[in-house]
Amino acid sequence: MKNVKCAKCVKCGKTYEATPNLTNCECGGILDIIYDYDYIKANMTKEKIASRANNMWRYRELLPVEESTPDTPLRVGWSPLYEADRLAKQLGIKKLWIKDDGQNPTASLKDRASAMAVAKAQEAGAKIIACSSTGNAASSLAGNAAAAGLRTFIFVPERAPKGKVAQLMTFGANVVSVQGDYGQTFELSKAAIEKWGWYNRNAAINPYLSEGKKTVSLEIAEQLNWKMPDYLAISVGDGCTIAGVWKGLKDLYAIGFIDKLPRLISAQAEGCHPINRAIATGEDWFPMEENTIADSIAVGVPRNATKALNAIRESNGIVVNVTDEEIMAAQKLLGATCGVFGEPAGVTGAAGLKKLCEQGVIGANDTVVSVVTGNGLKDVANAIKFCGEPMSLPNDMDLLVKEFDKRGLSVE
Ligand SMILES: *Cc1c(COP(=O)(O)O)cnc(C)c1O
Ligand SMILES: [Zn+2]
Repeated sequence: MKNVKCAKCVKCGKTYEATPNLTNCECGGILDIIYDYDYIKANMTKEKIASRANNMWRYRELLPVEESTPDTPLRVGWSPLYEADRLAKQLGIKKLWIKDDGQNPTASLKDRASAMAVAKAQEAGAKIIACSSTGNAASSLAGNAAAAGLRTFIFVPERAPKGKVAQLMTFGANVVSVQGDYGQTFELSKAAIEKWGWYNRNAAINPYLSEGKKTVSLEIAEQLNWKMPDYLAISVGDGCTIAGVWKGLKDLYAIGFIDKLPRLISAQAEGCHPINRAIATGEDWFPMEENTIADSIAVGVPRNATKALNAIRESNGIVVNVTDEEIMAAQKLLGATCGVFGEPAGVTGAAGLKKLCEQGVIGANDTVVSVVTGNGLKDVANAIKFCGEPMSLPNDMDLLVKEFDKRGLSVE
């Protein structure tokens, strides 16, 4: 890879050659991919990107793949960025955009990391990829691997919502539902991967994954014509997504494509926020219980805490924790004002933004992008529970009129 110099441990600084099947540093630290920005500057132009297909591979000079590695088959990335003027007004901010990453092929931002995993597994000559996941990493890996003709072994915690498990079974994965929490699921997958030598798509272990995830911020920048907002709000579990988002922004800054770096808003659940707690207290992170319906960010032992904490601190970021009720209120708000249906973890960034607006931390002069990281159809049970049941009536016009009157519903 002419555009990549090496992989470097974020903990001890040791460097490694960027081979396709890299995992953690021998010290246990996470590796970060280091680019040759001079090479990239000389080879990547905004015009060149604009002429390419609308998927995440349009930014290939900034991605850790060989020039000869083909685009993965599913259309990952180039999700819409909506101007949400009505919601911005309601929240009392100058400008708001919603990046709907639930519109990826398997309906979450994780497709960006999984497409990268498939590309790197193919470079490594692997035929089987494995991971553990709260759900979306799993379903995205199963889908992207199926499209590329690779087999998958997937470990999910028993609490994974049915929609995600249905995706896994449909994509033909070998699925193990682990009777335990995400931490235990991760441990079992790790042992199995070691035993059978499968390509490892576990979050944080594989340093290429957050390079895939960073394409969300590359897209946001391009979709905003390279003029960056003041803030970027995102939900945080393991921390790979927010770290990737920050990496993408720094890449663009380093090659001179943008001249301003947004501040990150790290949104976590009140019932599980070990990363935000570390920022708030200034202490190191330590494990926390996983008490939230936002299953995709119910991560008590974050696997990428170091990179996530660095990203939040470097960006002069803001942390905000939201209750399950606030998350579900945000789901309904986004649905009703923007027509965007996010899963609970998908709307946690927006819930955090709403809270910060109410607290006066973010206000009338601020511009914000909020990323919806996963689609609401993945978890319909919670949506129905919180957003309510429809009116239920027989085929009777009189009863319909009465029901509307009773509810004071305006019909014109
Ligand atoms: C995985 C996930 C996140 C959080 O990403 P991390 O890398 O674990 O921090 C947020 N939202 C959704 C929908 C996800 O699937
Ligand atoms: Zn190290």
